[in-house]
Amino acid sequence: MTFKTDGIIIREGATGEQDRIVTVLTRDRGVIKAFANGARNPKNKNVSSTGLLCYSDFLINKTQKGIYVIREAIAKEVFFSLRSDIVRLSLAQYFAELTYELSPREENSGEYLSLLLNSIYLLSQGKRNLRQIKAVLEMRMLSIAGYMPSIVACASCGSFESETMFFSTVTGELFCEECKPLEKTVKLPLGVVTAIRHICFSESGKIFSFSLPEERITLLSDVTEKYLRNITARRYKTLDFFNMMSD
Ligand SMILES: [Zn+2]
Repeated sequence: MTFKTDGIIIREGATGEQDRIVTVLTRDRGVIKAFANGARNPKNKNVSSTGLLCYSDFLINKTQKGIYVIREAIAKEVFFSLRSDIVRLSLAQYFAELTYELSPREENSGEYLSLLLNSIYLLSQGKRNLRQIKAVLEMRMLSIAGYMPSIVACASCGSFESETMFFSTVTGELFCEECKPLEKTVKLPLGVVTAIRHICFSESGKIFSFSLPEERITLLSDVTEKYLRNITARRYKTLDFFNMMSD
């Protein structure tokens, strides 16, 4: 059976003499692993369109044994400007790793694809604070995947806001000043809480549209990252590399 879909390459590996095995986040079928025969031959027509982080239109064959083979891939966006900036590239690779971790298999993944594409597009433009893009991708992807934190109100008394609030990066619960637990919470100014609410609850076209002073963006990024590391319980080498390079 052959079908068309669009998607972005989130993993790329070598197999055989000149073949590639890639993992693609597709719009229609979520994350799939597929063979791109001959794609490591520089003369092959699919050489750039099946490379890591390339966004392409695909014609894919699914064999009777359930193996996916890319018949054709036409590049729509290769994000060329990312390739020359190791910090932004490492962040884009981390986004791809995280997408692999959180996106569904064999089901529609349009929301994940839009989020990943928009984030990488903003990275490639280089106009926005990198940690803001990172925090939005992390928190929004967790939310879509079913791990939205409980940030509507204080988990204990239900009050909507206090000047400073406390967020548990373990349970995703929020507490007001009165109810703060003694340990394992991060102190957040209300502006950062408002930003997290914006990322989780806004329509997808508006999630990046907020501004905070730089040190609060850093705090937002740190708290989001801690929560994400607790939820996914794994290490991300690309993220560690990004943090090391951008400190
Ligand atoms: Zn409270």
